[in-house]
Amino acid sequence: MHNATASASLYANTDFSSLSWVEQQWAAWYLYIGNPVLATGLMSFFMHEIVYFGRSIPWVIIEAIPYFRRYKLQASKIPTPQEQWECTKQVLFSHFMVELPVIWFFHPMAEMFGMRTYEVPLPSFAEWAPQVALFFVFEDTFHYFAHQALHYGPLYKHIHKIHHKYSAPFGLAAEYAHPAEVAILGMGTIAGPLLYCLFTANFHIFSMYIWIILRLFQAIDAHSGYDFPWSLQHIVPFWSGAEHHDFHHMAFTNNFSTSFRWWDRIFGTDDKYRAYRARMNAAKKAMQGGSKEQRDEMERKLMAEVEAEGIRAEAEVVRGMGPKAKVQ
Ligand SMILES: [Zn+2]
Ligand SMILES: [Zn+2]
Repeated sequence: MHNATASASLYANTDFSSLSWVEQQWAAWYLYIGNPVLATGLMSFFMHEIVYFGRSIPWVIIEAIPYFRRYKLQASKIPTPQEQWECTKQVLFSHFMVELPVIWFFHPMAEMFGMRTYEVPLPSFAEWAPQVALFFVFEDTFHYFAHQALHYGPLYKHIHKIHHKYSAPFGLAAEYAHPAEVAILGMGTIAGPLLYCLFTANFHIFSMYIWIILRLFQAIDAHSGYDFPWSLQHIVPFWSGAEHHDFHHMAFTNNFSTSFRWWDRIFGTDDKYRAYRARMNAAKKAMQGGSKEQRDEMERKLMAEVEAEGIRAEAEVVRGMGPKAKVQ
């Protein structure tokens, strides 16, 4: 049992009537649990699970409805329910075995860095929006280089190969990865808020939650395998989205970033992707008079070519020749 007076003293000088509904719920949760470290740990873990599966399940449903196949990037590769279930079990395993302990160690560390947790009021939109934007840029940059490193022979073979099991990914597969990969790439997600907190000494975990929620949406949507006319990358041209990351899984090369297209563009690691896009568009234009079947057939052929090349490239990396030592 926690001492009710001790937990109530968290908010000794707080005027509850001035708080918004969300802030009142926030404080109520901390009062209910009574121990801020435990309350933060539990909330973080639950939030992650609710958002991860809450965002993945609509993709499972979309996958089951044939109408949506017209928006599927690799339309011939629909994951079976068994595949999705196997993936879910693996993801749950790593959530409990890797992420839960990380969350547990993270919070005492965050508090050491001076991060606010139970405190109310919560940061306003004007406060958290620029922070979240900064974390997006930081994570994308970190991920770009770390992801490329994971494609280096031994790291690929022992770690990143697991994530590449699906050449046509689906939402649930976003966090399907080796525990070491979860830890390495996860650093890009949590280092931004930690560094921000360290340098400004003015940071509330609420901003971090918004960031984690948006980052989960980004990762799951990028793996969804669907490109709708209303997808974000059609509105914000530098946003990566599924169309960008799906190619990485299909072709086993190019497009190493997460959220934005600019690093791949600057370093030219999107050359094959852009050549593929150009070929696809040209072929579509040339076949405008043809039937839908002919166009589908052409699309399938082009994709199969790119995928076959990717399979060869992967085999070379696994054999330790590296992606540069390609046999002509
Ligand atoms: Zn990769
Ligand atoms: Zn991926």
